[in-house]
Amino acid sequence: MEDGASPLNVPAVAVVGGGYAGMAAAVELADAGLSVQVFEAAPELGGRARRITHRGLVLDNGLHIGIGAYSSLLALGRRVRPAGGRPDDGWHRRPLDWQVHGGIRMRAPRLPAPLHLAAALVGASGLQVGARLDALRLMLALRRSGYRVAGDLTVGALLAQQRQRPAIVEALWAPLCIAALNTPVQQASAQVFASVLRDSLGAAREASDLLLPATDLSALFPDPAATHVEARGGSVHRGHRVERVERVGPAPRAGRSAAPGWRLHFAQGRAAPAGPFAAVVLALPPRALAELTAGWPELQAVHDSAAALRHEPITSVYLQYPGPAALAHPMTGLAAGPGQWVFDRAALAGQPGLLGVVISASAGWRTLEPADLAAAVHEQLRGLLPGLTEPSWTKVIHERHATFACTPGLPRPPMTTAVAGVVLAGDHVAGDYPATLEGAVRSGQQAATAVLAHIHPG
Ligand SMILES: Cc1cc2nc3c(=O)[nH]c(=O)nc-3n(C[C@H](O)[C@H](O)[C@H](O)COP(=O)(O)OP(=O)(O)OC[C@H]3O[C@@H](n4cnc5c(N)ncnc54)[C@H](O)[C@@H]3O)c2cc1C
Repeated sequence: MEDGASPLNVPAVAVVGGGYAGMAAAVELADAGLSVQVFEAAPELGGRARRITHRGLVLDNGLHIGIGAYSSLLALGRRVRPAGGRPDDGWHRRPLDWQVHGGIRMRAPRLPAPLHLAAALVGASGLQVGARLDALRLMLALRRSGYRVAGDLTVGALLAQQRQRPAIVEALWAPLCIAALNTPVQQASAQVFASVLRDSLGAAREASDLLLPATDLSALFPDPAATHVEARGGSVHRGHRVERVERVGPAPRAGRSAAPGWRLHFAQGRAAPAGPFAAVVLALPPRALAELTAGWPELQAVHDSAAALRHEPITSVYLQYPGPAALAHPMTGLAAGPGQWVFDRAALAGQPGLLGVVISASAGWRTLEPADLAAAVHEQLRGLLPGLTEPSWTKVIHERHATFACTPGLPRPPMTTAVAGVVLAGDHVAGDYPATLEGAVRSGQQAATAVLAHIHPG
C-alpha cells in the first residue's frame, strides 16, 4: 500500500471513512482522474446506513427513507449503479402519501407544485379544516420569507409564533420534524426545518415523493460506488481503522500538492502505514473525528466542534411473523405507542412476514429491555393488523449516535480545515441539511471539489 503518488504520477488521495459521505467523495475524485484509496474501519461499507445479517436475512442497521429532493444521492446513485438495475436506481418511488393509523391521511395528487401540496392539505382526512388552513398558512409564510427564519428559533417556537393549533402540530409538524431532523420540536432548529420544507413540500412535486429502499443500504450506494472507484484504478480497504494521520515531507501547499503530504497509520498496527497522500478527506462521524483529531494542534477547532455535538438515538425493531403480515401501505404511521412508522419488508424487500418499525429520537424508550420494547411494538401492530400472531423472533437495534441533535445556531465544523489538503466530509459538516443520506453525499461532493482545488489550484 506504500504508493504515494500513483505509478503514472497521478496525485493520490486518501478518504478515511466509507459511509455515504466518504464514498461520494471517492467517486467524484476517481471521476476527476485522481488515484483514490478509501479506508473503512468496518467490514461493510455504509457506516450508519449499512447492511447487517441476522438469522440469514439481509437487514439494515436502521430503517431509512428518502425523498425526491435527494437529488445529489439519486444522481450519483445513477452514475455508479449499472443500468437496468432495480426500480429507480434502488428505490421504490411513490407520491407523498402520509398515513397514520387512526389519524391523518394526506396524499399529494400528480399536480404541479405548489398545487400538489395545497390539494394534499385540502383533501387531508383526519384533520379539521382550521388545522389544514394553519398548515397552508405556515407554508405560505415560509415561502414569503424565502424559507429564512429570523434568529433561528426552535421549531416549537416557530409553530407558536405562527399560531399553529395543537391538532396540526401533533398530526403533521411534530412527526415530520422528528422524521427529518431526528430532534423533538421543542429542541429542533426552525431554520433547518424550514430548509427541509423548502426542498420537499415547498419544491417541485417530485421533490416530496417518498423513496423507500428496494435493496439493502450498502448495496444501495456504497458498494456500487466502491466498484466504480476500483474500476478507475482506486482501491477500497475494508477493516482498516485509521488511528493517526502523520505529516511527511514538506508541508503540502497550494501549487505543490503533488509533493508527499500525509501518511495513515492503522489501529493495532494491523496494516503497514499507507501513503504518502497529497490530500486526505476525513469522512468520519463526529465522535471518530474528535478522536482522530485529538492532540493535533492545528485541528484543535475541528476537534472541539466535533466533540461538542450532542447526539440523538434511533431505534429499529424488526418483527418476523410466521404468517402473512401485509400492510395496506408499505410505510404506515403508528400512533399511541413507541413505534412511529412501520415498513412492510415483504413489499419492499421481498421478505415475507417481516415488519420493520422505526422509533426516531428514541431516548425515552432506551430504558426498556429489548424484549419488552418489541412486545410493546407488537401490541401496537396488533391495533393495525388484528390477526397478527406472536412473532417468531424480534430484533431491536439501538443506534445511540444516529444523528447529531439538530438544534438552533449549532456550530457545525466547516468543510475546510486550518491544514491545507485535509478536508472534512460527513452529515454533520456545516450545511443547511440535517443529518441525512443526502446531506452526507452533498458534503462528500463538496469535499472532493475542495481537494481538486487544492491539487489543481487556479
Ligand atoms: C438508525 C438510523 C436511521 C436513519 N434514518 C435516516 C433516514 O431515514 N433518512 C436519511 O436520509 N438519513 C437517515 N439516517 C442518517 C444517515 O444514516 C446518516 O446521515 C448518514 O449515513 C451519515 O453518513 P456519513 O458518511 O456522514 O457518516 P457515517 O455513515 O457515520 O460514515 C462514517 C464511516 O467512517 C467509519 N470510521 C469511523 N472511524 C473510522 C476510522 N478511524 N478509520 C476508518 N473509518 C472509520 C465508520 O465505520 C463509518 O463507516 C439514519 C441514521 C440512523 C443511524
